[in-house]
Amino acid sequence: MITDHDVIVLGAGLAGMRAALEAARAGADVAIVTKVHPIRSHSSAAQGGINAAIGETDSWESHAFDTVKGSDYLADQDAVEVMCQEAPRDIIEFEHMGVIFYRAPDGRLGTRAFGGASQARTYFVGDITGQALLVTLYDQILKAGVKVYEEWYATALHMEDGECRGLVALEMVTGELHLLRSKAVIVGAGGLGRLYEPSTNALICTGDGYALAYRAGAPLMDMEMVQYHPTTLAGSGFLMTEAARGEGAYLLNSLGERFMKRYAPNKMELAARDVTSRAEATEIAEGRGIDGNVLLDLRHLGPDVILRKLPQIHEMALDYLSIDMIEDPVPVRPGMHYQMGGIKTDVDGATVVPGLYAAGEVACVSVHGGNRLGANSLLDTIVFGRRSGKVAADYAKNTPASTGGEVLLRNEQERLRELLSRPYTGETNAGLRLELAMMMDKLVGLYRDEAGLREALDKLEGFKKRYQTIAVGDKGRVFNQALTFSLELGYLLDCGETIIRSAIVRTESRGAHTRTDFPERNDAEWLKHILLTCRGEEEPELSYIPVTITRWQPEVRTY
Ligand SMILES: Cc1cc2nc3c(=O)[nH]c(=O)nc-3n(C[C@H](O)[C@H](O)[C@H](O)COP(=O)(O)OP(=O)(O)OC[C@H]3O[C@@H](n4cnc5c(N)ncnc54)[C@H](O)[C@@H]3O)c2cc1C
Repeated sequence: MITDHDVIVLGAGLAGMRAALEAARAGADVAIVTKVHPIRSHSSAAQGGINAAIGETDSWESHAFDTVKGSDYLADQDAVEVMCQEAPRDIIEFEHMGVIFYRAPDGRLGTRAFGGASQARTYFVGDITGQALLVTLYDQILKAGVKVYEEWYATALHMEDGECRGLVALEMVTGELHLLRSKAVIVGAGGLGRLYEPSTNALICTGDGYALAYRAGAPLMDMEMVQYHPTTLAGSGFLMTEAARGEGAYLLNSLGERFMKRYAPNKMELAARDVTSRAEATEIAEGRGIDGNVLLDLRHLGPDVILRKLPQIHEMALDYLSIDMIEDPVPVRPGMHYQMGGIKTDVDGATVVPGLYAAGEVACVSVHGGNRLGANSLLDTIVFGRRSGKVAADYAKNTPASTGGEVLLRNEQERLRELLSRPYTGETNAGLRLELAMMMDKLVGLYRDEAGLREALDKLEGFKKRYQTIAVGDKGRVFNQALTFSLELGYLLDCGETIIRSAIVRTESRGAHTRTDFPERNDAEWLKHILLTCRGEEEPELSYIPVTITRWQPEVRTY
């Protein structure tokens, strides 16, 4: 089947749905393609909140400075200024759409403290903020008449004369491939957390959007910047929101010490995430951990705060570790959480490929640089989702409809047929995926060095070869998740390669990228972004662009 729209949005998380809503408001015929029901997107798992400088005592400049400092000066300051200036109006708009944010006792919108912020500016709904925003936005896109292709799985972008003009997607319930043509495409396909094991990310966060855009010619930027969150639950890797520390929780080592006093004497538990994660890793490495973990202690907050403001993580600790955080501390460790890098865009979501836009975690505007501040990602999704929706709709107005694409559709049909017809070799996609993810955690995680990264690249090359021969176990048409898992593994391999290659090149330590062989930040050489452009099966092309500095010169970063 071939269908035409003005704008196609890939992804129904906060970025995708916000983009779709704005494009529809601008008069475009908009469709969303999503591999899961919209409200199952990973945005629904966001717990802690969303940042904005709204109160009289706060200012967008202060929010922007904290963001730039948090980024270890790698964020582009013009983009950060846009995000922080526009944050208040986006939060108020969500409130008007029906999100019931927490209210302080005086009846005004209330905030909580978050890491790396000079004052409390995180707005929230208990510890289900992402879900509250997402369901509200879903109502809005239905009201605006956006068409949703739900449980449709994108396999390739449709390129015509160097412009992006739609995509091919697998309708999972029938197994049929379709060509969806458009005048513009906005990629809001979320993160790549499952490239690492363990990770706080949902199983659907497999980097599809990065790989699809990369293969279509859009460069990926800052890919070496992978965030480890300081508080993921021992064993499962589930997230224990930073809001716990925002509400006052302590981090303790095996001696019962609040060890952050040695690493961030001013901010203590609310230092930026890269700093806190490294502090925990040091405590554990020096023998002051407890079975490879440290402790998150909420007991002094009392049952009222825990049950009213943090009910979800209270329940998670009970369900998964049988620990009641009202009575006992919870073992936590640093775990993979977020990708700061992504498809390089300008502040309107535009990539270098005409007709191709990106927003949300998959994009790199770049507002997070080397390290994202907690509660700035939800903000990134809605500010830049909105802006890209408007600009893509305007672009579509002046662009003629696409007439091609049948060849791509046939090629994709052939590619999937080949995947399904491969003979079983004894190796499984799931096995290879786990091997890849454990390798990334071990060699391309919190600490990196040249030898480990070279080993990782060798391993990855081997994985890519093995991937070419693995059979798909299920040969059926209906909801063939073995097939989509196999496609996802291909996307993950592309993402892994770009992360490793960028990490090898950046011979300094900045933000989340810690090179034990280059422990210092080196502004003279490395105050710049690394971009990788795909060249088919050859090595990607490497290029650099300077960081945009508007008003904050790099300083020594302490908390
Ligand atoms: C556990 C957790 C807690 C977090 N808490 C916070 C927080 O409190 N505050 C904060 O600011 N940030 C938080 N973050 C980060 C933030 O939630 C995410 O970065 C953000 O929600 C990403 O939104 P998105 O719209 O870019 O993508 P997502 O919400 O991940 O949506 C991606 C969409 O793309 C679709 N998609 C992907 N691939 C395909 C394909 N091949 N075909 C079709 N559709 C596809 C999916 O179906 C989905 O609809 C948290 C993240 C996690 C994992």
